[in-house]
Amino acid sequence: MTTLSTDLYINGAWRPATGTADLPVTDSYTEEVFARYRSASRADVDAAVQAAGEALPGWSATPMSERVAAVRRVAAALRERTEAIGRVISREVGMPAKLSARIQAGAPVAAWEMYADLAAALETETRVGHSLVQQVPVGVVACITPWNYPLHQITGKAAPALLAGCTVVLKPSELAPSSAYLLAEAVSQAGLPPGVFNLVHGSGSEIGEALVSHLGVDMISFTGSTQAGKRIGTMAALGVKRVALELGGKSAALVLPGADLAAAVKATLGSCFLNSGQTCSATTRLLVPRENYEQAAHLAGELMSSWRMGDPADAATRLGPLVSRAQRQKVRGMIDAALASGARRLGADVALPAQGFFVAPTVLRDVTPEMAIAQEEVFGPVLVLMAYDGVADGIAIANGTDYGLAATVWGPTAEALAIARRLRAGQVDVNGAPFNPAAPFGGFKRSGLGRENGRFGLEEFLEPVSIQLPINYFEAS
Ligand code: NAD
Repeated sequence: MTTLSTDLYINGAWRPATGTADLPVTDSYTEEVFARYRSASRADVDAAVQAAGEALPGWSATPMSERVAAVRRVAAALRERTEAIGRVISREVGMPAKLSARIQAGAPVAAWEMYADLAAALETETRVGHSLVQQVPVGVVACITPWNYPLHQITGKAAPALLAGCTVVLKPSELAPSSAYLLAEAVSQAGLPPGVFNLVHGSGSEIGEALVSHLGVDMISFTGSTQAGKRIGTMAALGVKRVALELGGKSAALVLPGADLAAAVKATLGSCFLNSGQTCSATTRLLVPRENYEQAAHLAGELMSSWRMGDPADAATRLGPLVSRAQRQKVRGMIDAALASGARRLGADVALPAQGFFVAPTVLRDVTPEMAIAQEEVFGPVLVLMAYDGVADGIAIANGTDYGLAATVWGPTAEALAIARRLRAGQVDVNGAPFNPAAPFGGFKRSGLGRENGRFGLEEFLEPVSIQLPINYFEAS
């Protein structure tokens, strides 16, 4: 059993949580509780927000070069913990350990360093006529994060917020809080001034909402479900607070005539099944010209057997369990409903490992755009295969959900680029182009508000202030 401190990190010190709820963390493969955290109380939330508020004047006035140096020390302390981070997230979330080390630990640690580089080069003052426009920190930021890529999502908020000069109160997911604990250790080791970064644990409904509605919080940066995002957006509006929402998705892979169909099918399965489908930007709808439908189904059916399920610690495992029993039940329910409404499953039934919250990799054919399985986020390893008639129809289906987070287009590159420009999604990849951590990430419609990553992510935490100077000021100086 891994034992982690259950303390909260407030005002530069560890202190016991004073809430009453116990927050067990379950290993998604063994199904056993391997860590327990204690929820914060409302008084703990008040203390964390107060500490962040008191630290704000000093931190926001700290020269950028010193903030950058402090964040580089956090990155270095995190790097020392890379192995522990990868291992614990693999247990919490179910991602195979080999991948977890790279994606759940290595990538976010590198992102802390990337943000420091970007901030070091950031211009925070420009001139507009006789005005000086300064980019100043928004203030105290509450970061509320999900479980699927826990440190990645924390990093996309906390690193740029701190660099921008904001102070932070983080509430990670209660299902996967351990990397947040390791981050707080790194912050402590890096010697950030007290109150600049604070960590509280707890449920969304109690501790999350206490933060969202807290008068001392200036901005809420949230990643999670669209359902919770709507509620948080509403509560933030009541307090006239800045809010950034990174929400769900139902992203399309649009395969054009003339595309490399085998490459498109393989990459789409890869995106859909990565992290057992628990990826917000996963391409979960494969749209192919009707004349290529049977061939696409054949290719997908052949590839599915390579997605070997098993112990995430085993190097041969490609598909781990889902995060929780509840998530497994939800995903199975959605598959059953799809089958009842006319979809058909590709391939033969495969045996599930004897333990762990597994759902077998699933490709559903004969799916039509209006079916729930083609419209709703599943968050499990489930791909729907749909046919379209003509490119306009393909674009309409790709754009035809409540979401707009990501998409991919496959085909002759110039044509694919032209189609990419017509998709209402925040990230569009052409012909398998890789993820770019410096490019903006975020959604249209019910996929959210605002953008994370790179320079765009830093700017989310800055507010412009215009200072008008006497007309001849600039000429004279
Ligand atoms: P969730 O909405 O249940 O919870 C996310 C976080 O919000 C948790 O910390 C939770 O405790 C908290 N929370 C829940 N209700 C709250 C409320 N009313 N007030 C304040 N806080 C609240 O989401 P989840 O199940 O942890 O994560 C999965 C979801 O996250 C999926 O829908 C996925 O698409 C989405 N997601 C989006 C992105 C993106 O960048 N767009 C990235 C990853 C995950």
